[in-house]
Amino acid sequence: MNVESTHTARFQRALLSLDGLSVGDSLGQLLTTCARGARRVIAEGALPGPKWWHTDDTQMAMAIVEELAEMKRISQDSLAHRFAERYQVDPGRGYGKGARMQLEQILAGDSWQQTSVAAFNGRGSKGNGGAMRVAPLGAYFADDVDLLITESRASALITHSHPEGVAGTVAVALAAGAICKAQGQPMSEAREKLWETVLKLTPEGETLDGIRKASVVPLEMEPEYAARLLGSGYLVTAPDTVPFALWCAARHLDDYQEAMINTLEGDGDCDTNCAIVGGIVALFVGRNGIPENWLKAREPLDLNL
Ligand SMILES: [Mg+2]
Repeated sequence: MNVESTHTARFQRALLSLDGLSVGDSLGQLLTTCARGARRVIAEGALPGPKWWHTDDTQMAMAIVEELAEMKRISQDSLAHRFAERYQVDPGRGYGKGARMQLEQILAGDSWQQTSVAAFNGRGSKGNGGAMRVAPLGAYFADDVDLLITESRASALITHSHPEGVAGTVAVALAAGAICKAQGQPMSEAREKLWETVLKLTPEGETLDGIRKASVVPLEMEPEYAARLLGSGYLVTAPDTVPFALWCAARHLDDYQEAMINTLEGDGDCDTNCAIVGGIVALFVGRNGIPENWLKAREPLDLNL
């Protein structure tokens, strides 16, 4: 399917992905201490009402969406400023220690080029923070895969200069873009498209090795076992997070709720796993595919558009 390349159409896709991402983030955060019991909690109607608090995943994704609204691309200086500003206004959103250090240094006047390269004793971050926030960008640039790769990479490098941090980000953006293009197709074809695109275009490395492994993990496997095979974010790195998240998204592309339950059954970095999966699956099921009461329960997004 051809996807439109006007800014308006691109932006609508980004907003849909952001809804899926933020509901996933807040649900994952809510159930993080009882993730394996998610199915029972949901079946019993035991989820609390509003407001479901969202975390850094949504904060940073909103910064990306605001950047795209204003610039129609990623200007790294501008996006670094948006990340730092959101952190300054609301620092208690569950940012990781590495992210907090970098954002505080940027607020103190350092450049993102310095802080990103200096992170983790000069190795750069290979955390999952680039991947957790990027699905709306992948949706935005779904019509132009070269631009999608350049811009997702640019968004990652502000905080994640390690090649694995970048690869995880590019992979999630590619998956989101592929699903936009596959919307309306049978799920099996969309799933194939997702794996084909991500496997072909993700940079080589540990993350891509994990994605190769994920692409052949049988869909019948219990998520708990798939998580053990692939990792589910306990290490909070891209290679330990992105393969399992893509497997969960591919497994339940047509059912947002089931995708969330399965992602939670893998435990690990629950808010980030669910943010990644939600940001992709929403693009296949549409806004009506996200349970209405979940959308209502998520705290309102404070997008500055
Ligand atoms: Mg988080």
